[in-house]
Amino acid sequence: ILSVKNLSKSFGKLEVLNDISFNVEKGEVISIIGPSGSGKSTLLRCINQFEKIDSGECEICGITMTRNDENGKAVYADNKTLHDIRLKIGLVFQNFNLFPHMSVLKNITEAPVHVLKQDKMQAEQTAMELLGKMGLADKANEYPCNLSGGQQQRVSIARALALSPELLFFDEPTSALDPELTGEILKVIKSLAEEKMTMVIVTHEMQFASEISDRVIFMDGGYVIENGTPDEVFNNSQNERTRQFLERYH
Ligand code: ATP
Ligand code: MG
Repeated sequence: ILSVKNLSKSFGKLEVLNDISFNVEKGEVISIIGPSGSGKSTLLRCINQFEKIDSGECEICGITMTRNDENGKAVYADNKTLHDIRLKIGLVFQNFNLFPHMSVLKNITEAPVHVLKQDKMQAEQTAMELLGKMGLADKANEYPCNLSGGQQQRVSIARALALSPELLFFDEPTSALDPELTGEILKVIKSLAEEKMTMVIVTHEMQFASEISDRVIFMDGGYVIENGTPDEVFNNSQNERTRQFLERYH
């Protein structure tokens, strides 16, 4: 469902992503771990084309988003293709990124109604179902500022799900949350994994990553150092850098 090949990206002289390649199959859960500054967020941003890459190939849901020209420079899909693909991808960030001036319900129905042109009643019904699933049915008419961080993050997951995405990306969804609120978000993500939602999750929650993931990617210095099962990466890594990184979490 996602294929990234030889993706490279620099900010000026700083090489942030070096020759990154990996695949995600439908229904898989992939965790990306690695030290601060290793390029995890930049990788997600590049795949979603919020950031332009220098070279590499990226295919999402069978559609080519970038390929290399004969000089090895990235060529991009047109805007319509990008727009269509974005609707297939749900994004959940560290800081929730809800629209502050809209109610919870409106946050969730905004894109389905105005972008997908869904019927408003239909969209609201779907939103209420999703809120119910997130344990937030009673918060539909609240504004984001009146919700806890954990509740806001569950709304932003509901908002992503309202577009029935093929693929969900999370960038450190719990790192702005207290430990007790972290648990409720991890539970939601776990239940999505049980429903076979395809997910790519950048996280510092090692225990969670090892429980939930089909594969774990360890990045360091803009390189993919490891791409293996949780057992291979967490318990049996032969790589010195991986071991050093994981030491810190024991
Ligand atoms: P963290 O775990 O702290 O979130 P990360 O792995 O997500 O780290 P990135 O945010 O991808 O790391 O950053 C990778 C590197 O790219 C860092 O050195 C960062 O300073 C640099 N970087 C990121 N965005 C930009 C930008 N817009 N302009 C210049 N440098 C950038
Ligand atoms: Mg980051």
